[in-house]
Amino acid sequence: MHFHKAEIAFFLFMLLLAGTAGMIGFVHGDLGDATSLTPESLASARSNLLIALVMLATTIGFGGLFIYPLIRLQAREQGKLKAMTVTLSARSESLQQAALTDALTGMNNRRYFDDALKEYLLEFHRIERPIGLMILDLDHFKSVNDTHGHDMGDEVLRAVAKCLRDFTRYHDVAARLGGEEFAVVAPNLDIETLNKLADRIRRAVAGLTITNGNVSLKVTTSVGLAVWDRRESAEEFFKRADSNLYRAKREGRNRVCA
Ligand code: GH3
Ligand code: MG
Ligand code: MG
Repeated sequence: MHFHKAEIAFFLFMLLLAGTAGMIGFVHGDLGDATSLTPESLASARSNLLIALVMLATTIGFGGLFIYPLIRLQAREQGKLKAMTVTLSARSESLQQAALTDALTGMNNRRYFDDALKEYLLEFHRIERPIGLMILDLDHFKSVNDTHGHDMGDEVLRAVAKCLRDFTRYHDVAARLGGEEFAVVAPNLDIETLNKLADRIRRAVAGLTITNGNVSLKVTTSVGLAVWDRRESAEEFFKRADSNLYRAKREGRNRVCA
């Protein structure tokens, strides 16, 4: 068996205490009852008492100089460990957050969106309410990058993200799916209301003026819509909205197709 330093110190401490108690026991034996005291037993009691006192002093010294510092050290290490655990769990929380957030716009990312869509479908199947999906893709965005540079492109993406945040409600899930593609899951909206919301967003994007340095420009977006038919999977639902988005592109862009 392997003992820790602190355990060995504790055993020694107990041994010294037991020794001291034993010596006091001897003194008690030497003194007996007052009537039978002899000079020899008194002398033995004196020397045993001296040994007991020395052992007691050693025990106290050992406790103060050796055991107490060990306890202090342990407490300090415990404190450090606790602080480390707090930092580690904060870091893992922020990593988790980062894994679900798009770094450029601060929006939810594709991973978050995919999970949220599946969860919403499960929940809305149960409560029998409609659920709408909107996929947006900026028009001719490549030429924004090609003409004005990638920084301007990033500025546009941030402005569109802000616009989406402004136009969606608390329980809508707005996300950047990647590149210049965004999506919104809009619970409790039938196709008519979803269409109205999408068109309001389309007009708001078209109304944006994005400025970077001394360059200003305007962008438009095409939007594809679908309301869940309560049977299709999340993937099928998404594909349906996506094919409507491509119809919007084909029909001339800057429009909503349902
Ligand atoms: P369409 O109207 O058909 O959608 O044309 P488009 O040019 O928007 O589509 P395309 O898919 O050809 O171009 C998308 C561009 O988006 C290409 C890529 O350079 C740009 N892009 C993707 N991610 C980012 C990004 O994070 N920042 C910037 N600035 N550009 C990006
Ligand atoms: Mg695209
Ligand atoms: Mg595009």
